[in-house]
Amino acid sequence: MLAMAAARLGLRTAILTPKGDTPAVDVAGETVFCESYDDADALKRFAGLCDIITYEFENIPVAAIAALSAARPMRPGARSLEMTCDRLTEKRFIEGLGIPVAPFAPVETRAELDAALATIGTPAILKTRRLGYDGKGQARILKPADAESAFAALAGAPAVLEGFIDFDCEISVVLTRDPDGRAVTYDVAENAHRGGILATSTVPASIREGTAAEARKAALVIAEALGHIGTLAVEFFVTPAGGLIVNEIAPRVHNSGHWTLDACTVSQFENHIRAVAGWPLGDTARHSNAVMENLIGAEADGWEGMASARHAALHLYGKAESRPGRKMGHLTRLFPRLKSS
Ligand code: AMP
Repeated sequence: MLAMAAARLGLRTAILTPKGDTPAVDVAGETVFCESYDDADALKRFAGLCDIITYEFENIPVAAIAALSAARPMRPGARSLEMTCDRLTEKRFIEGLGIPVAPFAPVETRAELDAALATIGTPAILKTRRLGYDGKGQARILKPADAESAFAALAGAPAVLEGFIDFDCEISVVLTRDPDGRAVTYDVAENAHRGGILATSTVPASIREGTAAEARKAALVIAEALGHIGTLAVEFFVTPAGGLIVNEIAPRVHNSGHWTLDACTVSQFENHIRAVAGWPLGDTARHSNAVMENLIGAEADGWEGMASARHAALHLYGKAESRPGRKMGHLTRLFPRLKSS
């Protein structure tokens, strides 16, 4: 999607990817395959093709980022990755900005889990510090007796125990920030998850205007503190009292911003490309209300029935293999925007 947004602006894209089934290969001008992100030769060849380097995935080894940033400008900078690739570092960073996060404690041993449960209580969620996404690397602890199986499920990976938040809804703010610190935000999306995976994003979110404004403000504070360049998403829980608690930061374009492709003049992808290329940012105004539905696993098999739905835009990613839990595409349904919505 980033490569397609770049092409629309007349910019050419090369991609670096570990070998495998990567949809970007179909739409990028050049592809450099690497065995792993530690492949120094591939990193060098890739940097040689680029004027600016960006990423759309945060689990890239710090050493690879360092090697690429030494060769070419890397946007967003290394700080955005360093602060967000580890849940513990990320939570401490957000808390340090005075923005609420769920109660948390680091857990490396079984004894630390018991100590953390004694202060945080149940229900709680044990999450791996690194490499978790779409509900992977997480185990719920509904009652103290679940501690044993939750600890075993994470197989010794350093983790964070998080108190379970009783939320009314989940929302996210997607924004783009340019190298001079100017930033634009998109309207707040309301997100529903199934099995830890994003199922739908609905815009506008059913929250008070004040809560939406506060969420945008908190996301801007986070982007500023990271010195972030490009698109970034912040996910929040909205409590029954209307309070906001940050769940996590994605230092990249985000699934909960896919609706911007069809409901906004300039999408999160295009604004990311504009920001990293040092171009003026585009208009984030939303011309339609939207519901984005992820097509997960076999759900995409029904694509023919969706292709002709009225006011609906179908996106299929061309992934070679469908697996349960794998995001295969999405469908965005658009609704005329009323003056009051
Ligand atoms: P994550 O991968 O951390 O975003 O978690 C995936 C989903 O699990 C979230 O979007 C929530 O629906 C749920 N979840 C994660 N952490 C918590 C929490 N501390 N309290 C309540 N629900 C949570």
